[in-house]
Amino acid sequence: MDTGNKIKRRAKSKGTPPIPPLNKGGQGGGTAIFYITDNGFALAERLKGLYPAAQVFKFKPDTISKFWGKHKSFIFIMASGIVVRTIAPLIKNKKTDPAVVVLDEKGEFAVSLLSGHVGGANNIAKQIADFLGGEAVITTASDVNNMPSIDLWAKENNLVIEDWNLLPQTATQFINNSSLKIYSEIDMNLPSDFLKVSDPKLADVLITNKQKIDSNVIPVKTGIQEKRTKELDSCLRRNDKNQAIRKLYLRPKNLILGIGCNSGTAADEIEDAVKGVLSKNNLSFLSVQSIATIDKKGAEPGLLSFAGKYNLKINTFTPDELNSVSNVEKSEAAFKATGANAVAEPAAMLASGADKLLVRKQKIGNATIAIAEKKAGRRAQSAERRAGKLYIVGTGPGTIEHITPYAQSVIKESDVIVGYGTYLDLIKELTRDKEVISTGMTKEIERCRKAVELAISGRTVSVISGGDPGIYAMAGLVFEVLRGQGVKGSRGQGVNKSASPSNPQTLEPLNPVVEVIPGIAALNACAARLGAPLMHDFAAISLSDRLTPWKLIEERLESAAKTDFVIVLYNPKSMGRPEHINKARKIILKHRAPETPVGVVRAAMRENESIVVTNLRDMLNYDIDMQTTVIIGNSRTFVWDNWMITPRGYEKKFKI
Ligand code: SAH
Repeated sequence: MDTGNKIKRRAKSKGTPPIPPLNKGGQGGGTAIFYITDNGFALAERLKGLYPAAQVFKFKPDTISKFWGKHKSFIFIMASGIVVRTIAPLIKNKKTDPAVVVLDEKGEFAVSLLSGHVGGANNIAKQIADFLGGEAVITTASDVNNMPSIDLWAKENNLVIEDWNLLPQTATQFINNSSLKIYSEIDMNLPSDFLKVSDPKLADVLITNKQKIDSNVIPVKTGIQEKRTKELDSCLRRNDKNQAIRKLYLRPKNLILGIGCNSGTAADEIEDAVKGVLSKNNLSFLSVQSIATIDKKGAEPGLLSFAGKYNLKINTFTPDELNSVSNVEKSEAAFKATGANAVAEPAAMLASGADKLLVRKQKIGNATIAIAEKKAGRRAQSAERRAGKLYIVGTGPGTIEHITPYAQSVIKESDVIVGYGTYLDLIKELTRDKEVISTGMTKEIERCRKAVELAISGRTVSVISGGDPGIYAMAGLVFEVLRGQGVKGSRGQGVNKSASPSNPQTLEPLNPVVEVIPGIAALNACAARLGAPLMHDFAAISLSDRLTPWKLIEERLESAAKTDFVIVLYNPKSMGRPEHINKARKIILKHRAPETPVGVVRAAMRENESIVVTNLRDMLNYDIDMQTTVIIGNSRTFVWDNWMITPRGYEKKFKI
């Protein structure tokens, strides 16, 4: 009998999340690949499988400057020294430099050399490593420390970085303090390492469309929970002493300019008027999102040219649409010229959806400017209340690659993630920009209540369980809490198909859509690692007596053993009850031979995975803990080439 062999059957990939390929089928100007040798050329051709639109060139140092500025990403298959020397004079700043990735000829290492975050080189290096089965070499501190990068996060959330020179200092603060204090005037979800503060004085980063926040004025609390820790207080004292500290401003794109102007007004005049009004009202030009005006002015050359210069969209409205807005200052001159009672004010309000203006109309020379603020998260405040969603998600046994794409998509769609530390750590890459609620293992009920409460309030919530959520996990508990509160969730069956009832008339709590999203359970993962031990009837039994009396567990073990079920033992051992696995083994040995094959799989599909095929006699010689699942074969289970196999019965009917 082949016993106790540790098997190494580890997948090569290190669990990088699937990232959609860049430029697939896109324009040719996206990616340029350079090679020197024939091997390099062969590798470049292989990479076209990943980036079909990429262009491949033989490397000539003095020609690279011609490509710079034309391509978004550069992949060099050669020594990094050559690349560094060649691109050094071309590098300008991290805002505009392209992504540069260097690959060795064998494709073993993809080094993200330049513009890791904003340029996307880190992602490209990871994609290439995944594609070629190699390693991505990433050196940006936030990635190495598993922290969100400020610039990437800003980009993803459509926030404009005002002063890139302040970024290194802010990033260092972040890494040294392990958290970043954010003051935000817009409603947004923050990654778990970002701490929301309601006093701008305490913040490292200010998210606002105001040019400067007067740090002596503490704005009214936004209702967002603030953690006023000792650390924050000492930070306040530090900042008081040194008012000179310059803070990083991130600009939300939420200002809408309503503009009316006489025919033939020059672009410069419009620009000066806009900048003058913004500055007088302490508003940042970087927060301007778009322009709104009357349909007739949609083709006004000065306006078009100003909009084009700053890449601002122009939204136009008919006189009837403009006249439908009440509470604006009317002008007879405007009515005579256009048929609209007013232009700048109602246009800004219509385009922003706001019911009041931030800046009432200002007439400066030939232009009239009004400003409105577009509210993000209007949904929460508006009358159009929406039912929340409650996803109960299984994240599989280990790394991200074993989570179903559907589960990944609901996690991405969620505003809030509720879960337990270890499982959350395994999926950190998916939850960076989410509000994460994590409490210890024994606080499951508290977690479920919170999740239900949030879903009722209209948020999209994912309750995370390792493995499958319906197997010794959270799904049952969530339903018990729903039942306890009399909340009948409507059934979701697919992200886009779920009915989302809304109830605008009343302020009654809305019942959330509830959906359970299955995951690969430990019994699937462990069976797969062992071979095919579950090919016949099996029983899963948890040895945890935290919620089930031990006597009942013993009875179930006895019955399953007696009736020749394959037995999957979950929660086999913990510090508090080391003897349970010994007792279980003794019970099973009453009905099965000591040579019965047993598989002991620890941390399946995780970094520290171990797989042992042994038997009932020897099984206790191996490490068994709470990350382990033990599978005990039935009377017919056999071991072949270190695989554990339970025959289904084909051999009796057919010749194999
Ligand atoms: N919902 C989970 C089970 C949670 S109970 C599922 O469907 O798999 C926790 C127990 O599951 C652990 O004590 C262990 O017995 C088993 N388990 C979970 N993940 C595992 C893994 N990666 N490898 C081996 N066993 C695992």
